[in-house]
Amino acid sequence: MSSAYTALISGLVFPLQERFKRRATPALRASLERSQWWPPERLEALRLERLRGLLERVERVNPYYRRRFGEIGFAAAELRSLADLGRLPLLDKPTIRANLAALRSEDAGRLARFNTGGSSGEPLIFHIGERVSHDVAAKWRATRWWDVDIGDPEIVLWGSPIELGAQDRLRALRDALMRTELLPAFELSEAKLDRYLSRVCARRPRMLFGYPSALARLARHAAGRGIRMDDLGIRVAFVTAERLYEEQRATIAATFGCRVANGYGARDAGFIAHQCPAGGMHITAEDVIVEIVGSDGNVLPPGRAGEVVVTHLATGDFPFIRYRTGDVAVSDDALCACGRTLPLLREIQGRSTDFVVARDGTVMHGLALIYVLRDIPGIEAFKVIQESLDLTRVLLVAGPAFQVASITQIVAGLKQRLGAAVTIQVERVEQLASEASGKYRFIVSKVSSILEAATP
Ligand SMILES: [Zn+2]
Repeated sequence: MSSAYTALISGLVFPLQERFKRRATPALRASLERSQWWPPERLEALRLERLRGLLERVERVNPYYRRRFGEIGFAAAELRSLADLGRLPLLDKPTIRANLAALRSEDAGRLARFNTGGSSGEPLIFHIGERVSHDVAAKWRATRWWDVDIGDPEIVLWGSPIELGAQDRLRALRDALMRTELLPAFELSEAKLDRYLSRVCARRPRMLFGYPSALARLARHAAGRGIRMDDLGIRVAFVTAERLYEEQRATIAATFGCRVANGYGARDAGFIAHQCPAGGMHITAEDVIVEIVGSDGNVLPPGRAGEVVVTHLATGDFPFIRYRTGDVAVSDDALCACGRTLPLLREIQGRSTDFVVARDGTVMHGLALIYVLRDIPGIEAFKVIQESLDLTRVLLVAGPAFQVASITQIVAGLKQRLGAAVTIQVERVEQLASEASGKYRFIVSKVSSILEAATP
């Protein structure tokens, strides 16, 4: 008995405390809550100072950037304004893949290995260190904009336990302490949706968190069942990870009787921006510099749509400097009515995935398939096309690190999701053609689109 308890303390609770101590998140959050009201010039000065600090550090201790700065004749000491950032090269996923070791700074402490980018069709394996606390603090600040706080009851519609690793299990324990309940979002069968609605009613959360597509589906299900959800005291639904459509926003708001707050961020790029109650999509300007870049690589003026390029100022141990996210957005030079001086983004496009349908009829979030693919080394880009209930095709752009044996793993993973009888056809291609609609869809289902069309 006592040894089991000790194992629990030493194996879970203690590392958890250590992680919190090292992160110093509460102090960071407190300082972010002050700087969000600063005059724009003061905020700008802070960002310039932090950018200079980052560039001086990587010039000294980062093998990749030491070499690159030398090649282009750049010295961090010459930095005069944030616009000078434009002199540095863009960082894309193939460059990170090819320089994974050289991108690690010589003074880096322990780094965690992460994967991401599945929803953009270009998976990436990379490392994260010091910045975790910054991203957590930024998220915490944005939560408090909505008069909700860590520890308030929360329902999270996200991911799936099949993919949970050790790190996620630790998070699950923290979640229990924090009164967060996770409902796996991948398999959204009628029976699951019924159970989820009863969980929401029983818990009466102050906030919801999840993919807009999944929360909208849950909302439509409640409406279809005639279950009233707008009197539970839900204040806000935080949505992230994919494009939020106005129709989804309206459905979620009407069903749950709450506001909908859009968030934009990812593990690779950090906590980039979040919506405030006045409607502004505020950039986490203290930690993140956002540039909107045209197809020629030049920075575009406010109001023009282009690729989101992110420099995260807390990444000295594994730098993300001018990192190409693959997302498209428009920057805005107006100030928000809420009085916060943090600059704004508008119209974030991209990152849209279809639902897929398993052989037994279960409707699943497209991420259920993406998770199978994104942790396999050597996949540079992919597209999954569900042609019918019996056939799903996977188009792969594979790099030199890709091993043919991984194809078996992909087939097995997708069969586990879609059904053992389904044919999975893996095709290696040189590149992926973009869709005629210009939409960024890397999970395309010809089955669910028929279903959606058939449902009123
Ligand atoms: Zn605002």
